[in-house]
Amino acid sequence: MSTSFRTRSIAKVAKAMQTSDGAGVRLQRSLGTPEVPIVDPFLMLDEFRSDDPSDYIAGFPPHPHRGFETVTYMLAGSMQHKDSVGNTGNLRAGSVQWMTAARGIIHSEMPKQEDGLMWGFQLWVNLPAKDKLGDPRYQDIDPSEIPEQPLADGGSVRVVAGRFADRVGPVGGVATQPVMLDVSLPAGGSLDVPIPAGHNGFAYVFEGRARLGDREAAIERGHLAVLEREGDGLRIAAVGEAGTRVLLVAGKPIGEPVARYGPFVMNTREELEQAFRDYQSGQLTQ
Ligand code: FE
Repeated sequence: MSTSFRTRSIAKVAKAMQTSDGAGVRLQRSLGTPEVPIVDPFLMLDEFRSDDPSDYIAGFPPHPHRGFETVTYMLAGSMQHKDSVGNTGNLRAGSVQWMTAARGIIHSEMPKQEDGLMWGFQLWVNLPAKDKLGDPRYQDIDPSEIPEQPLADGGSVRVVAGRFADRVGPVGGVATQPVMLDVSLPAGGSLDVPIPAGHNGFAYVFEGRARLGDREAAIERGHLAVLEREGDGLRIAAVGEAGTRVLLVAGKPIGEPVARYGPFVMNTREELEQAFRDYQSGQLTQ
């Protein structure tokens, strides 16, 4: 760990709010809320975690998207992805699905289990105007394709997108050059994680408690920390006796107007209305 590392500061900490989506899946939303509407280019972060099937069994039946990307990162359990482009994917523990909806996709994500723990994240990543009506794309990434960098003190970093140490994540060709890291630290562990200059970012604590950046107070599980833009990256330290796990996400801001409603994210209200018309007339995915 270099002593010259300048950590980014924490601009804001927000507790996830409980909500539901799909056909009634209970989830915790920490980004895309009244408190934190956007961290450009990121539009939404949901965590779903339950071992009560009634919280997840209804799943996410077929629904449309246009104008952005949806990312599903599974920690436990199993779901089946199907979409209008003909892709199918098995969302199992440790896998990631990076779906670029672009001009239009209709997909479903349905549980493949009737009991047990279902745990994971859904992240929404915006697309620049020039890519919003491009061709849809689906990257279905097996757990074995996600490199894991062991740390000297016993923790590890799974590199879903971007890079850490010499490891490069398998997600490629994304306009906003995202970094997505699953950082596990044992009790007493700490780590300086570089973040590309100019990227916006946030960190979500999903196990234990963590000290982030130069903020003294520990950040609890289920809280999102929005990062300031200045600095070399983020300093993360486990607090307490249980270790911690943090999802660190960063990307190049797009800096364009955002018009969003439900499953569509465009630049103007007119484009949103067009998306609804196209969906109703069956043209969304044409
Ligand atoms: Fe969806």
